[in-house]
Amino acid sequence: MNRVILRMVSLADLQQTDMMPGKIGKTAPGCVRRAMETGLNGALALLEHLPTRCVVCEAAAIRSNLCELCLTDLPRLPAVCRRCALPVGTGTLCGPCIINPPPWQSMTCAVPYETPYDTLISRLKFRGHQTVAPALGTLMIEALEKPQPHSAFTHIGSQTLRFPDVIVPVPLHWYRLWQRGFNQAALLAEPLSQHFDIEIIHALKRHRYTRAQTLLDTHDRVANVRSAFRINLPVEGRHVALLDDVTTTCATVAAASLVLLRSGAASVHVWSCARARSKHPSHSQQKKRRSDTHLSNIKNRRLRRQFRER
Ligand SMILES: [Zn+2]
Ligand SMILES: [Zn+2]
Repeated sequence: MNRVILRMVSLADLQQTDMMPGKIGKTAPGCVRRAMETGLNGALALLEHLPTRCVVCEAAAIRSNLCELCLTDLPRLPAVCRRCALPVGTGTLCGPCIINPPPWQSMTCAVPYETPYDTLISRLKFRGHQTVAPALGTLMIEALEKPQPHSAFTHIGSQTLRFPDVIVPVPLHWYRLWQRGFNQAALLAEPLSQHFDIEIIHALKRHRYTRAQTLLDTHDRVANVRSAFRINLPVEGRHVALLDDVTTTCATVAAASLVLLRSGAASVHVWSCARARSKHPSHSQQKKRRSDTHLSNIKNRRLRRQFRER
């Protein structure tokens, strides 16, 4: 009976509620809070041995909180420019990047900022569903290994660049960090740091509180993050992977890259989970309908496969 009850409550479910240790009891007395946290820690340790569910379709996950079908079938970016991660016809660089190159040396994005990734990233950022981070991290690793297996060097156009030796997550202002409780870029950096054996350093500081970029147009986004970053730790001579969750107009990564390069970084490679093709990829009702369709497609494919296997 206990096993049945435990299976009904997944680790992801607990993480998605305010029952997680550390979140308990802003109102409970200290001894009650400690007792509840001890009990929940034990339960969580037990739940870690139970199968997890896919963060997209809730089927049994096989790796990094993703199921077999989602790992193979979820959309990825098509051929993109290695400098701005926007679609490119032929070659590795687009025309605008050849004529007017951005300050960073390369940009790698894993997925298009569309369904279901926009929903996943929003769950991670705004609802604290941290089980999404390993799934997105796995897709980022796949994108970074795709052009060529990981080596000490990466080749872009005629350039040979050193692979990054340090990951710097785009920082949040301390007030937003306090409100959210975590930095989503730092969470995404963890699986990449482990996979590539690169250390994470918080070399940047967002010293000015900025409005959410999603609410602004291109011009205002640039103004919003101008002078928002300062150097926090030395990066002289380091090859930096600047990690962000979503790249839209590149205003944030441009401002952060310039600070890193002016502080002596040898190169900056932008690693971003999702790349938005338009300035405002937000037609929420339309996206909601697409999200529902995507989920039902996955369920239909699974049902068809099960039927064939019978
Ligand atoms: Zn799935
Ligand atoms: Zn480009």
